Amino acid sequence: MAKTFKNFIGGKWSAPLTGRHFQNRNPADTNDLIGRFPDSGAADIAAAVRSAQVGYEQWSRTPAPLRGDVLRRVGDLLSARKEEIADAMTREMGKVLAETRGDVQEGIDTAYYAATEGRRLFGHTVPSELRQKFAMSIRRPIGVCGLITPFNFPMAIPTWKAFPALLCGNSVILKPSEDVPHTAHLLVEILLEAGLPEHVIQLVHGSDAAGKSLVSHPGVPVISFTGSTATGSAIGEVCGRMHKRLSLEMGGKNAMIVMDDADLDLALDGVLWGAFGTTGQRCTATSRLIVHRKVHDKFVAKLVDAAAKLALGDGREARTQVGPLIHEASRQKVESYLDAAVLQGAEVACGGSRPRGARTANGFFYKPTVVTGVKAGSRLATEEIFGPVLSVIKVGSYEQAVKVNNEVKYGLSSSIYTRDVNLAFRAFEDLQNGITYVNAPTIGAEAHLPFGGVKQTGNGHREGGWEVFEFYSETKVCYVDYSGVLQRAQLDTYDI
Ligand code: NAD
Repeated sequence: MAKTFKNFIGGKWSAPLTGRHFQNRNPADTNDLIGRFPDSGAADIAAAVRSAQVGYEQWSRTPAPLRGDVLRRVGDLLSARKEEIADAMTREMGKVLAETRGDVQEGIDTAYYAATEGRRLFGHTVPSELRQKFAMSIRRPIGVCGLITPFNFPMAIPTWKAFPALLCGNSVILKPSEDVPHTAHLLVEILLEAGLPEHVIQLVHGSDAAGKSLVSHPGVPVISFTGSTATGSAIGEVCGRMHKRLSLEMGGKNAMIVMDDADLDLALDGVLWGAFGTTGQRCTATSRLIVHRKVHDKFVAKLVDAAAKLALGDGREARTQVGPLIHEASRQKVESYLDAAVLQGAEVACGGSRPRGARTANGFFYKPTVVTGVKAGSRLATEEIFGPVLSVIKVGSYEQAVKVNNEVKYGLSSSIYTRDVNLAFRAFEDLQNGITYVNAPTIGAEAHLPFGGVKQTGNGHREGGWEVFEFYSETKVCYVDYSGVLQRAQLDTYDI
């Protein structure tokens, strides 16, 4: 009998006030029921906000280095339970164990980075233009932060948001993706075990209805969202009207450029990992391959040969290289793109169908697919598919490659394979993305660097690294005049 899980609201594990639950099943084997999770509603969110406001009063007064100590213990506990969490994550999300271990490791790295930030949280001290006057800025917490996360990084993305938010002294309401609630449950267990005061964290499971209630609640001044661009737009409208601080990390249509001087074996390893890792369901996944015509045929032949050999199956089996998609709806979306591509004259060079056989019969599997002859500007070349589909576009020059890379509405990640150092540095300037890799695939962000995209991928904020701490804190400027007389800025001047 599968377990029925609870929300964590008001300092205790509790059933949803809606009385409703949803099922969480293994996408590699839908007969495997992981558990039932709360399908929460507006009343659950309201209770979470009341509790988080209590938590905020306590936590915002806790010295930042002590807040950091809690996060250090979180890092230790995540390390100790890494294997167990990775296994649970693969079971509910599908990506292979090596990748879910990496996902947990990203949470560990984020915890230790945030822990040390508790002893920095720098402000500035600057000279005043007046005598005997002190001028400085400090960083203050903001309040209750509502965090809404997607399915594809069940541990890393919640930690990218929650750890800096907590370190800055805010309380947190986490509404994780309804596709991966178990990993979020384990994370909250660990936060509590590490000593986080119970009202400081709330876990509210549910679907878009719970997310909408969180976004529109007036007691939540900060929303951080990662997910699709369509959902982010809807959230942005509400937050704009309500004057909320909002971080959006959304879709991508990332490209790898292979120039005619590239190390083709290196590029091959990169594109296989970038396009088919996480079954193409990374926001930074390589969705387009832009290849110089001089090496196009040779490179595509190697690629098709290697992609066709990738082993599909349950991500918890050692021989599996590519797991399932998250849903049947995702698989059907992939199929609809392929139908459209063929109609537009593109050629399916490998994959392009569901696999056959017992290992994949009960899951949402789709063969790694390479489509050649994709026209720049077509749907396959411009829209996010979020599956194991790579569109190959042939170009004749660096300039043309840049143009193709930039003619999409997204701007998350890009990569260029070349041995020409001048071209590599030009690419940093020319490619319109938040992240550009040279001689590495479009995936591979590290927790201590800022992460995010330009254009319709984001709204100007960054997760990760040092920048995210600015999002979760307010700058406060403080002056102390110790002259004993009224000094008027801009009016009173001195003879030098
Ligand atoms: P999604 O937009 O369907 O859902 C994301 C979260 O939003 C879920 O928790 C969902 O319940 C919630 N939600 C849905 N509608 C809502 C609404 N109207 N108001 C409030 N909350 C709502 O995304 P997904 O399918 O889980 O994830 C895939 C998408 O996420 C892809 O587009 C991918 O590119 C993107 N993504 C982006 C990044 C990045 O950093 N740029 C990282 C990972 C994933």
